[in-house]
Amino acid sequence: QATDTLAREGPSSPSYDWFQTDSLVTIVVYTKQKDITLDSVIVDHQDDSFRAETIIKDYSYLINIGLFYRQCQLISKEDVTHDTRLFCFMLPPSTHLQVPIGQHVYLKLTITDTEIVKPYTPVSDSLLSEFKEPALPNNKYIYFLIKIYPAGLFTPELDHLQIGDFVFVSNPEGNFKTSQFQELEDLFLLAAGTGFTPMVKLLNYALTNIPSLRKVKLMFFNKTEDDIIWRSHLEELTFKDKRFDVEFVLSAPISEWNGKQGHVSPALLSEFLKRSSDKSKVLICICGPTPFTEQGIKFLHELNFSKDEIHSFTA
Ligand code: FAD
Ligand code: NAD
Repeated sequence: QATDTLAREGPSSPSYDWFQTDSLVTIVVYTKQKDITLDSVIVDHQDDSFRAETIIKDYSYLINIGLFYRQCQLISKEDVTHDTRLFCFMLPPSTHLQVPIGQHVYLKLTITDTEIVKPYTPVSDSLLSEFKEPALPNNKYIYFLIKIYPAGLFTPELDHLQIGDFVFVSNPEGNFKTSQFQELEDLFLLAAGTGFTPMVKLLNYALTNIPSLRKVKLMFFNKTEDDIIWRSHLEELTFKDKRFDVEFVLSAPISEWNGKQGHVSPALLSEFLKRSSDKSKVLICICGPTPFTEQGIKFLHELNFSKDEIHSFTA
């Protein structure tokens, strides 16, 4: 994921390589110089950037690794709920970028001279658009469903962008793997608020590409009916694909509401998470505000779902 630049101002060209385990990346810089001591090495590791410099005999060898950002242009912005919008950005013409299912990118804006970076999960342009991963994907546009928080740091600025303005988009990150879908029979999605965003591509992918799949159920937690993202798309999808079902749960309904109410709870989950058969292979994906996700995971363990059967989306 990282991009790198290797600068040299010395007589012989340095080269480098790296190796990595799950928890450690070792970068080896070959300087062709002897007697390098700790005094001649400067290393900085901040957020997602890594910089190492060695100064040898008045020459400096520099390796700089950080997230790569490309500038993307705002093409359209559409209201989805009272506070959530669908943003469409165009990638630069020479860029090929297909964000893997379940992964997020970072958006960067400079706000009063400070670079602000926040993670967002790309979605498809619609829940109902035919989902394929063609050999030559149409990767010109990248879509986001983003909730605007009036007192937030980043989202009000994003909301103020005009069509034609630019935002920086990083490389993707995340640890979801579509191999988790192999032989899957029951897929349960637990989403709260904008925690729905990773579920969009997941849903499309699973319904289109996993022949073993028997059931896909989404339990969607929101405060009020007005907060439900793409409600009509979801309801339409239940008609389009009989394997799919959705249940809305409201924590603070304003008007009369005949559906489920409350926060995530063992009672709600045990009723919802019915396997299609005793030994069916299940995956439960969960995403939302941190307390929601943490409580949800705890309840899932109490209901005897194993670690391998749960995938949580977090930063
Ligand atoms: P912030 O400044 O972070 O504030 C958010 C809210 O909290 C505001 O209402 C603010 O008033 C309040 N607040 C801030 N600080 C405090 C405080 N100290 N005490 C009390 N309240 C406070 N969001 C999406 O909309 N779509 C996505 O697809 C999406 N994907 C994500 C993917 C990942 C991996 C993660 C981790 C998050 C994702 N998010 C997504 C959330 C997103 O990254 C931002 O957190 C969100 O947009 C809020 O950013 P902000 O700077 O506007 O608000
Ligand atoms: P929200 O405040 O509108 O709440 C939606 C629902 O979440 C509520 O109705 C309630 O059921 C539940 N909830 C909220 N607070 C809770 C608490 N303290 N305990 C238990 N349940 C609670 O949600 P929002 O403003 O749309 O926020 C969505 C959150 O999802 C953000 O925090 C965002 O960072 C996160 N998110 C994470 C990822 C990711 O990690 N990949 C992706 C997208 C969104």
